[in-house]
Amino acid sequence: MSEPLIQIEPLSSPRGGCQGKNINYHEGTFCHPASAADVQQLGLPYSPATGSPEFDWELPPDWEEIILRGMKERLEKYRSFRLFMDSCVRCGVCMDKCPIYIGSSNPKNTPVLRGELMRAVYRYYFAPGGRHFPGITRGKPLRKETLRQWFYYFYQCTECRRCAVYCPVGIDTAEITMIGRELLGLVGIHAGSVMKPAANSWRTGNSLGKNPDEIRQALDSAADELEQITGVRVEVPVDRKGAEILFLTPSADLFCKPHRYTLLGYLALFHQIGLDYTFSTIAAEGSNPGLYSSHELAQRLGAPIYEEARRLGVQWILGGEGGHMWRTIHQYLLTMNGPAGFLRTPESALTGTRFEHASAAGALHICEFSADLLHHGKLPLDASRNHRWTVTYHDSCHPARSMGMLEEPRTILRHAAERFVEMPVNTIRENTLCCGAGGGLDAEENFEYRMRCGYPRAMAVKTVKEESGVNLLACICATDKVSLPVLLDYWVGDVAVAGVHELLGNALVLRGEKLRTTDLRGQPLR
Ligand code: SF4
Ligand code: SF4
Repeated sequence: MSEPLIQIEPLSSPRGGCQGKNINYHEGTFCHPASAADVQQLGLPYSPATGSPEFDWELPPDWEEIILRGMKERLEKYRSFRLFMDSCVRCGVCMDKCPIYIGSSNPKNTPVLRGELMRAVYRYYFAPGGRHFPGITRGKPLRKETLRQWFYYFYQCTECRRCAVYCPVGIDTAEITMIGRELLGLVGIHAGSVMKPAANSWRTGNSLGKNPDEIRQALDSAADELEQITGVRVEVPVDRKGAEILFLTPSADLFCKPHRYTLLGYLALFHQIGLDYTFSTIAAEGSNPGLYSSHELAQRLGAPIYEEARRLGVQWILGGEGGHMWRTIHQYLLTMNGPAGFLRTPESALTGTRFEHASAAGALHICEFSADLLHHGKLPLDASRNHRWTVTYHDSCHPARSMGMLEEPRTILRHAAERFVEMPVNTIRENTLCCGAGGGLDAEENFEYRMRCGYPRAMAVKTVKEESGVNLLACICATDKVSLPVLLDYWVGDVAVAGVHELLGNALVLRGEKLRTTDLRGQPLR
């Protein structure tokens, strides 16, 4: 096992009610506030935080009114929000299901108490008798301290939605977190780890802030790398009008590792099957950091996708391995940025399969596309090229729980790898455990918390490493590919992380390829 990167200290349980005043903003456990430049670039309200780390925001004079008005509007607009405020029976079933609580042992990080931060204010101002009988209704007035608690705990929820799988009355605490962050944003309180990529996306169309030349260069150099490995020169179409398909993927796939090996897998696949597609330098981002701030920002940052699809004249959208990217596309894009009647139902030219379930949004996930190709025997594979890996699969939270994307990645892995092993059943599929960095929590400053929150996932990996010799964790989320390598180095050691299409690209036998001696990482095959 590798050396621990930091020493994680046990947290003492905070005392007091759910809005008690002894919140502990100790280093390593909270996201830093956003910079004025990023927030103002987005045209959002901004309140500077002073007195760090015991934040005291310079709020607008009417901040209470703004928050309560915002709450009222959302209670009227979102029926689910009112339901989640009214229906918690405090059964506690969700408590030990939250990976953040399991990793932190902080009772305030249980979904029930996280939701209670909002419900207490709701009961005081919006429930019958709330103000007059707060002792009976358990209502609490809004204080500045409430906002500090909201900032702390709503930015310690990764919005993974594991709690919602178990809650007997269907409360989705991630939705409460989303509204909490939205209300904080109304008075100018934002997290830097969300606003930085959001400002980049607003300015350039991608969360890394890359300009069109950099995107073209990244794709050109990926084609060079693939040629060195396979001997096959692939064309990478960019901004090509009239292509059948717009391919959309997290920008991290172009610029980060291990994501980039997955990109090589996509390029090999598309070349092999002669896909009529294009990348776009305008809509060069599938991820949508706006989802972690507000519905309004998610809508704004998602807008270039359909606009660019229309401008290029494509017929449908194929999306790469992104986590919250697929929650946004699957559950919000059409409502927020549609209608998408100018797109048609995604269809595979090779197999003739029409993906009717994807017809409304006109967008198909690449795992669905590739699993269909494999199902019809359209891809020649040599799984021995992945001989050095014993593979397990981490169900990325959003594709698993929001889309039900459970079988397709497994189908690909079972074809592409010689040995595939499942982690314990209570940690996979819809019960999957968060990497610890979702929801905009992938900030350097909360490293300790990320390691805590990913601990349950890491222990499941450790189990299959020790029992079955697993040495590779596959996943389909850009955030996972950043966070899991660090997490596994910390808790487990000697387990690599890869995209599903990296393994498919390794195994794929390309027409006209040379004798391959290395995999897509440039590592010897044997
Ligand atoms: S969404 Fe995930 S992190 Fe947030 S409260 Fe539920 S289980 Fe915990
Ligand atoms: S499981 Fe649902 S009803 Fe029970 S405490 Fe948790 S949020 Fe409330």
